Amino acid sequence: MTDEKKVMFHEMELDDRILKAISQLGWPEPTLIQETAIPLLLEGKDVLMRARTGSGKTAAFAVPVIQKILNLKNTSKHQSIRALILSPSKELCGQITSVIGDLTIKCAREVRCIDISANGDTQTQKAILSDKPDIVVATPSRALVHLKANNMRLKEDLSMLVVDEADLIFSFGYEDEIKELLSHLPKIYQAVLASATLSDDVLSLKKIVLRNPVTLKLEEPELAPSSQLQHYHLFAEEDDKAAILYALLKLNLVRGKSIIFVRTVDRCYKLKLYLEQFKIGSCVLNSELPAAVRCLSVDQFNRGRYQIIVASDEKALEKPDGGILPIEERTKKKKQSSKRKKDKESGVSRGIDFQHVSNVINFDFPLDVNSYVHRAGRTARGNNQGSVLSFVSIREKPLMDAVEQHLSNGFKGQKVLQKYEFALEEVEGFRYRSRDAWRAVTRIAVREARLKEIKQELLNCKKLQGYFEENPSDLAALRRDKALHTVKVQQHLAHVPEYLLPAALRNEDIVEDQETVTEKPQVKKRKQNANFGSAKRHKYQARQNDPLKSFDVKKKKQTAGET
Ligand code: AMP
Repeated sequence: MTDEKKVMFHEMELDDRILKAISQLGWPEPTLIQETAIPLLLEGKDVLMRARTGSGKTAAFAVPVIQKILNLKNTSKHQSIRALILSPSKELCGQITSVIGDLTIKCAREVRCIDISANGDTQTQKAILSDKPDIVVATPSRALVHLKANNMRLKEDLSMLVVDEADLIFSFGYEDEIKELLSHLPKIYQAVLASATLSDDVLSLKKIVLRNPVTLKLEEPELAPSSQLQHYHLFAEEDDKAAILYALLKLNLVRGKSIIFVRTVDRCYKLKLYLEQFKIGSCVLNSELPAAVRCLSVDQFNRGRYQIIVASDEKALEKPDGGILPIEERTKKKKQSSKRKKDKESGVSRGIDFQHVSNVINFDFPLDVNSYVHRAGRTARGNNQGSVLSFVSIREKPLMDAVEQHLSNGFKGQKVLQKYEFALEEVEGFRYRSRDAWRAVTRIAVREARLKEIKQELLNCKKLQGYFEENPSDLAALRRDKALHTVKVQQHLAHVPEYLLPAALRNEDIVEDQETVTEKPQVKKRKQNANFGSAKRHKYQARQNDPLKSFDVKKKKQTAGET
């Protein structure tokens, strides 16, 4: 589409209050999906949209929903729930509600939106629903709870249904709920399905939800172009992965906020406790955490309280075996894993809007191409720069080859995953420290870290307050029951002495305390190395925007010798 033909927001016949909100958000023009979908939805068409996360798809359906409600308010004073937006997880529901909040900032009194995805508090939600908010955002199961209890009625007045992340709706097992839910809707309403993939499941949902829909399969690349998003890989085995990560972070070669993906929930804690020993703070995100804690983690990360979030691979939640096992075995495994009370309404690597992520680090390589794409999609959002750095062990090499092949298809056969130069032997001191720190995080320490979180949750749980009042000894025991195998933060490990630095980086600024960014990091200026400084600056100027600086110590030494 050429620039002359681009339809701008103000050309879409949108209400002034929406246009003002969009301008307040600082969105200069619609994204491709918005430019295409908004006019179609305003015309009243049903739409099936395939759009990658980060494409702006939330506003693509939210803007027409709000416009339609404002139109209805001009003709009818009758208050009712006009739009139902379904999404598979509480985090995604929260995010959609927040986007709607931003878009209705200038018409908040006219268009009210509530999110009823949280479990529990059904009575409060019932009271809010009795006021008939204009837009209800929910997971399918929560919507059904309230429909069955007659806390909300949609049969007469609903005019729009949106199903977001439709492919996940199926993998999260909401199929039956969706079907039952449809029986509570009126005969005629406008519907939108948004999905990252157009799987068979989505196409079958399309048949039951949409009428004569327009299907938008926009020719958008699944990931940002290479000028914006760089992919690197680095071969490393288990012990070395930890040492390299420590060195990268301490040498300040990773700039900005990072999401570090690991394979399992235990490894989330292992890595967090490992980094903690060097006073590198991080928060943890995985599906076993209660929703409130997960939302808090994402929020703290977005607000800059933490620079690093360690996330377990949620692909394993969708397909516990990574798609290798036959279906029957998969179901068996799924049942087993559900014993661990994973929350099916959580999806870390899909859809959640982690803001301003500069780096995605695959500490463990993703189990398949899709998972790589979803993880990589967490960075380089909008027009921002981003990088993906994957640590690859020998066992993970075939997975990387598959990703390389897939990505290079999209880039006309060009090699996409570049080698990240890192001379581990130059940072032997880091390796030495790292080995001890990694071993200090025993399985018992990991288990206790997880238990600590559960205990905290029990102590905070409102529902248990009554029980604790009647059984104060249990409360006291829970409070007393301290973890025995905590991993101590060793102050001296937080500091990187000059002799540990590779020669090439001795004139770099080293961040000594990365615990938070709200507390101003103490940056210690190292001595300038006049010989090397200019060559290095020159090298970095070429990649000024790349949040991941390369660390090619050997090459730098050569260059230094030449200057
Ligand atoms: P989504 O794909 O809906 O999750 O949106 C991804 C990100 O893009 C969000 O952080 C939005 O705030 C942002 N965004 C949405 N529409 C636009 C736009 N027209 N211009 C710039 N940023 C946008």
